[in-house]
Amino acid sequence: MPNKIAAHVAEGKQYFPLASGAQDGWHKDGRATATCYCGAIQLSFPVEGPGFVGTFVCHCPDCHKFTASMFASNFTVLDEHLVHERGQDNFTIYKQKQTIVSGMNMSNYFCKTCGSLMYRIAEDYPGVSLLRIGTVDDFTLMETKLRPQLEQFTENRVSWVHEIEGARKAGRMGFEGASAKAKQAKV
Ligand SMILES: [Zn+2]
Ligand SMILES: [Zn+2]
Repeated sequence: MPNKIAAHVAEGKQYFPLASGAQDGWHKDGRATATCYCGAIQLSFPVEGPGFVGTFVCHCPDCHKFTASMFASNFTVLDEHLVHERGQDNFTIYKQKQTIVSGMNMSNYFCKTCGSLMYRIAEDYPGVSLLRIGTVDDFTLMETKLRPQLEQFTENRVSWVHEIEGARKAGRMGFEGASAKAKQAKV
């Protein structure tokens, strides 16, 4: 069975499969959209620097729980490059620090209609939003610009999820590099 994402990448085409209540995602001029499950919230973000910081997968216990899955797939964007195309009044925010390794607050921004987690903001990484690779509308980006560069907390990776080829590995926290880059870019 040919892979549809790979086929679109090979042909240099974009790929917007039916995945959301809205079908108006786009990818142009170095920016692309991320949309929640119901379509009420749409973000746009840069797919390259300087506003685009990096990508990582996290297998930590916190990420298992809040994604209701085995890992979180993230990409980080400087706040001043993140645009709320619509739905900025449709978030519900849940903040806690009990399960966060840094011991500092993590704010989670969910769509209050459909529950999609659109991004997280960490108190110890000011100026950066952590968006979700799975909410991006052009699926070819998941194989190209948003392919994970770092895989962290591999100490909690389940045996049936295989390691990501080519990604830097960290048994625990590995995100500092991305943060330092973000802080540098802000100066
Ligand atoms: Zn929604
Ligand atoms: Zn995590």
